[in-house]
Amino acid sequence: MSASCCPTPTNGPASPAYRRVLWAALLINGGMFALEMMAGLQSGSVALKADAADFFSDATNYGISLFVLGAALRVRSGAALFKGLSMGAIGLFVAVQSLLNALSGRIPEAETMGWVGALALAANVGTAIMLYAWREGDANMRSVWLCSRNDALGNIAVMLAALGVFGTQTGWPDIAVALIMAWLAISAAWQISRQSLHEIRTGEVQGRPHGHGHGHGHDHDHPPRHHH
Ligand SMILES: [Zn+2]
Repeated sequence: MSASCCPTPTNGPASPAYRRVLWAALLINGGMFALEMMAGLQSGSVALKADAADFFSDATNYGISLFVLGAALRVRSGAALFKGLSMGAIGLFVAVQSLLNALSGRIPEAETMGWVGALALAANVGTAIMLYAWREGDANMRSVWLCSRNDALGNIAVMLAALGVFGTQTGWPDIAVALIMAWLAISAAWQISRQSLHEIRTGEVQGRPHGHGHGHGHDHDHPPRHHH
């Protein structure tokens, strides 16, 4: 789910080994974003599209950790703004598509939803195990755990929606799950965008709003207990 992840917690420059893990995580999450979005378009499932937004967000975090973590604040803020606006756009796209599905009464393909949701769960669990095994720094365990738990809940929600679609032969379970996830994505996007705009304007980093998680991919700005 899009509510809270910060999957890239390193204190200082990442070691070559950890950079390889970040690369693997970037490829897995970027690939799953593409696959889940295409499966969503093909099957007519808006929940799959909404779940894809989280892979996009996480992939962006890994990219930020790999490429702009050491860069100037302006560059980091710009990357965060790009991420916030993209997530907001995906969230709005999902909301509009949900409305269109509701109006047309389109029934998504439950089978595709089920197996893609299961694949997404496997990708998230795999990424979590990898990050956990090669973790660096104290804050990692907790943030990896929280991130993975929320993402897994999102994947399970997609699979439950698939069951619901199959059982009711309507699109409503798919739409309900999609709207909840779209809302989470849009509210996270709003916080990220507002924060990064503030940084770009003032050139200073404030404490990030508690709990939005999908902000920057780094954790230098607030104490470990705030990591989600
Ligand atoms: Zn996530």
